[in-house]
Amino acid sequence: MSKLVKAKDGVEWYADGTILLIRCPQCKRENYALAVADGVCCWCGYKPKPLK
Ligand SMILES: [Zn+2]
Repeated sequence: MSKLVKAKDGVEWYADGTILLIRCPQCKRENYALAVADGVCCWCGYKPKPLK
């Protein structure tokens, strides 16, 4: 696993560009486990922006 760069509102950004969406900041629901690594909310389709 790459280095954690930022964690906010249930979303984690890693140094290699991976985004984990554990809880959706938009609809506030816990993401489906298999969708966490995709970085996309399985409920509303929310996708966090990558860090620059
Ligand atoms: Zn959502």
